[in-house]
Amino acid sequence: MIIVLRPDASKKQIDHIIERVKKLGLKPWVSKGAERTIIGVIGDEEVLRIQPLEVFPGVEKVMPILTPYKLVSRDFKKEDSRIEVGRGLVVGSEQIIVMAGPCSVENEKLLVEIAGRVKEAGATVLRGGAFKPRSSPYSFQGLGEEGLKYLARAKKETGLLIVTELMDTRDMALVEKYADIIQIGARNMQNFNLLKVVGRSKKPVLLKRGMSSTIKELLMSAEYILSEGNFNVMLCERGIRTFEDYTRFTLDISAVAAIKALSHLPVIVDPSHATGKWGLVASCAKAAVAAGCDGLLIEVHPNPEEALSDGAQSLLPENFKTLMQDLKKIARAAGRKI
Ligand code: PEP
Ligand code: MN
Repeated sequence: MIIVLRPDASKKQIDHIIERVKKLGLKPWVSKGAERTIIGVIGDEEVLRIQPLEVFPGVEKVMPILTPYKLVSRDFKKEDSRIEVGRGLVVGSEQIIVMAGPCSVENEKLLVEIAGRVKEAGATVLRGGAFKPRSSPYSFQGLGEEGLKYLARAKKETGLLIVTELMDTRDMALVEKYADIIQIGARNMQNFNLLKVVGRSKKPVLLKRGMSSTIKELLMSAEYILSEGNFNVMLCERGIRTFEDYTRFTLDISAVAAIKALSHLPVIVDPSHATGKWGLVASCAKAAVAAGCDGLLIEVHPNPEEALSDGAQSLLPENFKTLMQDLKKIARAAGRKI
């Protein structure tokens, strides 16, 4: 349930309510909006029947949250969440954040080269997997810690922030040390132990939608992270399985609008994994910006033929540059900037 406080509620009154909620064995989460404060209450709401909170001074109304996800819902927080990623970069602001780079970190020289090219084109975050979730055990599995070190090197050279995937709870401390944004991949969207571990950190998390998951399931997974205390979560639409097999997945563009309506969390779109075809990436990226996404995740590789993973969907740096120019115009038309 959520407790909506009066605009003139004093700090003393708010603290008193929080204390009472805790005493009842419930978990209060305070959201301070521009006009008023809201307290989200998590736990067995039955106890509130005996102790009606409406009577407390400072309370305007008490409302149940009917969705199974609470902290991620728009009911809990009306304003869009803004996530500070570092170096002044805020996801969920007027600026659309572009995260670009290779699917996998392959070697240091190549990574630094790609980082330079995507930075020059206007990206602000470098993507690259050091731990790779591959469908086949015989495919390249990533360089592990060595790959993370190359990402750190590329960051030092270019000033780009880093987004990279965490696949195993045992690697949390390691990945946290190198990543500015921790990616939870589509295949791990419902790895609840992994969600809890990133939830106990304050690091921004990019949570990708499972390829066979509904929007509601994505929001429930995000709820795991927020309920552990980490509100720095961005949700990523990366295509879902449908009967269509021309594209690798089907980009659910309506998910951008739907998630924005249901949740306050920023939405990122990954047109690379959604389409699986580099020739379709630009159109889908443009559609995502027009639909109101807060960021894009795009795979770029200077030699896709030789890429160790996902070459077919990787843009050449020059094509990425052209796309960035085109996106600027669409962003402007949508009241945003890139
Ligand atoms: C990735 O972004 O590197 C990736 C593996 O994507 P997904 O989890 O969406 O398949
Ligand atoms: Mn990939």
